Amino acid sequence: MTAATISPMALNKQQILSLLQGQQDTWLFDQAQRITSQVFADNVYLRGIVEFSNYCLHNCHYCGLRSANRKVVRYRLSEQEILSAVDNIVAAGLNTVVLQSGDDKHYRSEVITRLIVAIKQKHDIAITLSLGDRHSHELQQWRAAGADRYLLKMETFDQTLFEQCRPKADFHQRLHQLKTLQSLGYQTGSGIITDLPGTTDERLANDILTLTQMELDMLACGPFVAHQQTPFADEPNGNVLTSQRVSAILRLMNPYANIPATSSLEVLTRGAREQALLRGCNVIMPSFTPEKGYVNYSIYPGKNASTIATQPRLNAMFEQINAHGLHPCLSRGDSKRNPHVP
Ligand code: SAM
Ligand code: SF4
Repeated sequence: MTAATISPMALNKQQILSLLQGQQDTWLFDQAQRITSQVFADNVYLRGIVEFSNYCLHNCHYCGLRSANRKVVRYRLSEQEILSAVDNIVAAGLNTVVLQSGDDKHYRSEVITRLIVAIKQKHDIAITLSLGDRHSHELQQWRAAGADRYLLKMETFDQTLFEQCRPKADFHQRLHQLKTLQSLGYQTGSGIITDLPGTTDERLANDILTLTQMELDMLACGPFVAHQQTPFADEPNGNVLTSQRVSAILRLMNPYANIPATSSLEVLTRGAREQALLRGCNVIMPSFTPEKGYVNYSIYPGKNASTIATQPRLNAMFEQINAHGLHPCLSRGDSKRNPHVP
């Protein structure tokens, strides 16, 4: 069977609920691995991420970067520092950079445009932006300047839960931004936090159905990790298996989407991120954030906690991927779902 012949599985809500409850884990994970292996030929795409600012105007109840957290040491990378982190990504052989930050309007539209232009002039690589809620005209400018992809997780598609977790954030505006990104020709990603306090299997099943209906290029889900300096400090951490089940179900329903194995899996259970690569995921995003910011990009405890330098950390990642019989792949890894997207 070739990749072109793989059809998405049309699972209904009842079937999704029974998979979420773990009644057919062996079947689910086997199918997810079979499909991932066929579509991506056992390649795992590596994307270098530069977390360039931990300032944020939002106050999400789950996130350590929330504006009300006075204990986090805030940092911003200069344009030059961001560009040299991108140079390091290219020097390591990777062909995608992800620029991520808190929602930090200090980086005005023209600053981001300048960065995109400078990166594209120097390197033939793909640029993913993950900058949170921004205006349509900014998204348009950045796309015109050469940005290829945008990742904007809804975190939950349940409006009530969204509003409980993201005070003052606008649910409809975020959904609308995703549509705008798609219409502008971005390879568009969204996703959820699994086991977000207040969620239920029913809500998770609805999230999976909605993410699938949206025909996204990237689907990102990772488990909730409680952060001490947030209102959710005493909530239980998410279940690694639930998150892996969600990714696996998404793979069955979206064979061609890029699905990252998130670092929150690894924070909760050592080895869980690489295990997810055998359960439907096909992307991994090593951090290339320079020392100035690295440890302070503390979305949740354990994030960027490694004391190992970037290159040896990357080498260890390669070894782990190889040990699972998979191949680290440094190519751009463009969307296979909407191949018309340049
Ligand atoms: N500010 C941008 C935004 O929110 O879209 C991008 C940066 S934000 C730190 C990146 C992602 O971190 C969010 O989309 C969310 O899914 C994840 N995140 C934040 N806090 C988390 C937590 N406690 N557990 C798991 N994931 C978390
Ligand atoms: Fe800010 Fe994003 Fe964290 Fe929310 S999840 S507080 S928007 S960095």
